[in-house]
Order: sequence, then structure tokens, then C-alpha cells
Amino acid sequence: MAGVTSSSGPADLIVVGAGIVGLAHAVEAVARGLSVTVVERDERAVGASVRNFGHACITAQAGEAHTFARRARGTWLRMAREAGVGVQECGTVVVARSEEEAAALDELAATRGAEEVRLLTPAEVTAAVPVAVEGLHGGALLPLDLRVDQRRAAGAIAEWLAAQPGVRMLWSTPVLGVEDGLVRTGRGDLRARHVVVCAGHDLDRLLPEVADEAGMQRCLLQMLQVRVPGLRIAPAVLTGSSMLRYPALAGTDSARALRRRWAAERPEMLDAVVNHMLTQLPGGDLVVGDTHAYAATPDPWSQEALDELLLAETRTLLGRDDLAVVRRWQGVYASAAGEFLRARVAPGVTAVAVTSGIGMTTAFGLAPAVLDSL
Ligand SMILES: Cc1cc2nc3c(=O)[nH]c(=O)nc-3n(C[C@H](O)[C@H](O)[C@H](O)COP(=O)(O)OP(=O)(O)OC[C@H]3O[C@@H](n4cnc5c(N)ncnc54)[C@H](O)[C@@H]3O)c2cc1C
Repeated sequence: MAGVTSSSGPADLIVVGAGIVGLAHAVEAVARGLSVTVVERDERAVGASVRNFGHACITAQAGEAHTFARRARGTWLRMAREAGVGVQECGTVVVARSEEEAAALDELAATRGAEEVRLLTPAEVTAAVPVAVEGLHGGALLPLDLRVDQRRAAGAIAEWLAAQPGVRMLWSTPVLGVEDGLVRTGRGDLRARHVVVCAGHDLDRLLPEVADEAGMQRCLLQMLQVRVPGLRIAPAVLTGSSMLRYPALAGTDSARALRRRWAAERPEMLDAVVNHMLTQLPGGDLVVGDTHAYAATPDPWSQEALDELLLAETRTLLGRDDLAVVRRWQGVYASAAGEFLRARVAPGVTAVAVTSGIGMTTAFGLAPAVLDSL
């Protein structure tokens, strides 16, 4: 690719980063009839947006994230129709294997109602997902949640965007700096009325002071792709450890009681900040995760003990020993005290990041709110 300077004049909007957050801003700009240029340093998205579970985890969010997630749901379904993104309206099954876990789901059901939470008996859980019966207390179906084909979604959305009027996708083009309405890239300068920086966890490299101000760190996760012969699981599957993470569940008295018990009985799960969950890839393999470690610059080493912990949890959950690991990878996302970072960097420049691991769930709801604010 040669220089990027356009003869067609400045765009209405430049988006830095073609992960799901940047793409969501571009999709929203197109819906508003704006011209938009997306600038991405890699030749395709390979960051957090392709390394995740592909789980639009809508109901387990709270507050603003829940509002964004509900709005995002509609856009994912539109992207399925218009951009050919694989999206399954399969919901999530949350498996309860203790009294506290079942009680946390009761609490959630009482506040959210039947549209969002349907309590399940143990027999209904095993009819929906083939988990081991031993120790099963019941569960819940969260029917609004979606499964997205995460490894292809960003590519499909980028292709769709490239075919829309007024859109330029600039790949393999690193952004070196941003100023008022000006983006300096390794291939030349670009101008626009507004610039939205969606660099994910690399915001701390491009705009370190903005990241510092937000207390941003990197969260490193270990993930596995696991083959289990003959297994079919349509919904996403969450477990007790997920109840300790997602705010709508973690905020219940019962989840707090579960955390206290695990501090005594299962400290290894809390130490590794495990959210043991599963989703199934279109080809049938399971995506199994995850563990969390927080640092400005995480250690580069994967820890075998953490993978073993995830595998042991999965064997117990499914009641199966015949699990074969096909792939292992690390993912990184931006993390901070709040769930979303929105900062005006210069008059025409806004930095945006999802600073908890819920960008697939919320980006399509966050982007309209950001564009409203410009
Ligand atoms: C293992 C894992 C599991 C997860 N599971 C889920 C899940 O199931 N559900 C959910 O909702 N969320 C999940 N998340 C979180 C979600 O994936 C992220 O919140 C989301 O993908 C962040 O999107 P992003 O666009 O900000 O980041 P990224 O996808 O990392 O994209 C940022 C892009 O910016 C580009 N960039 C950075 N700097 C520059 C520069 N200077 N110039 C040009 N381009 C630049 C990068 O190359 C990159 O392509 C998970 C995350 C991980 C890591």
C-alpha cells in the first residue's frame, strides 16, 4: 500500500483501530450518513476481538453496560443479516452446582423477570447442555444472550464496511500520533472533522497519559480450544466462577456468600481469577477459558498450571475425560476501574476503550453514545 493521503478531502470521521470497538464506530457512522476512514496497523484484526468467546453476555451486565448490551444485540442481528456475520440467538445456560449459585440465579430472576432469566431444573439444564448430573442444583437460561462467530465477525464487518459509500479501510497503516482533526500515520497524514481512537489495550502506547489518567492496565487471559468427540452445545455456558465476575450476578448476596466459601475451599480459582465458561465454535470445538492476570506489561509466559486448572474444571463440568487441546492462546484486553473509557484528548479527538472484558457484548451500544457526544 502506498501513501494514504486522500484526494477526496477529509472524512467526517477517522477511526483508529479495526477491532470490534473501532468497527462499531464505523458501522454507526455509516448509519448516520457520515464518511469514515478506518486506520488499522495490522493487515486484519488479530487482537482481543478475535481471541474471545464470541459471547454477547447481555443479561449478566448491569447499569450502563446492560443498556449498551441490549442496544448492541439489535446491531449484531443486523450485522448477521447485512454483513453475513455468524450470530446465534441461542442464549446462555448458567449452571448452578451449589446452593449459593442456585440462590444467586433466583436473585437475578427476581430482579430481571422472565424476558431475561428463566430458571431451570437440573433435568432442564442437562437437556440443554450435556453437563454432569452429579452436584447439579439447577441453572438458568438467559435467552437474550447471543453467540457470535468471533474468529470471522471482525473480518466480515470490515468487508461489509468497505462496500459502503464513503468508507475507506486502511490496513497495515500504523497510527503514530493524533492531534486536533489530524492523524499521523506511517504512510502519511490524514484529516477529519472528528477522530475516535479505538486502539484497545494499546491505547497506553498511543496516548499513555489518557491511559494513566484512567488507571488502565492490561488484562492477560489464557484460553484453550478443546475437542470433545460428539459434543454439541448450542448455548454459551457459564458457571459459578462466572457469577463472581459479571456484575448482575456478582452483586447478589448469594454470589458474595459463594466467594467467601471459595476463599476457604477453592482459593486456586480466586487466585487465578477464573471465569470458567464454554462456547462452541462453528466447527464443533469448544472455546474454554479463562484466567485473568493484571499488569501494565504482563509476563509473556503462559502457565501450564492455569491451563490444567481450566481443563480439570471442564472435565468435571462435562463429566468427560476425553478432552483434547487443539490450540492455546493468550488474549489481552484493556482493564480499568470503570467499564468504559471515554476521554476528549483534543478538540476533535476522542479516545474510547472498553475497559472490562465485555467489548463484544457492548461495543455496538457504546458507539452510538460516543457519536452522540461528538
Ligand atoms: C480472551 C478474551 C476473551 C473475551 N471474551 C469476551 C466475550 O466472550 N464477550 C465479550 O463481550 N467480550 C469478551 N472479551 C473482551 C473483548 O474481546 C474486548 O473488549 C474487545 O474485543 C475489545 O475490542 P477493541 O476493538 O477495543 O480491541 P482489539 O480487538 O484489540 O482491537 C484494537 C485494534 O486497534 C489496533 N491498533 C492499536 N494501536 C494502533 C495504532 N497505533 N495504529 C493503528 N491501529 C492500532 C490494533 O491493531 C487492533 O486491531 C474477551 C477478551 C479476551 C482477550
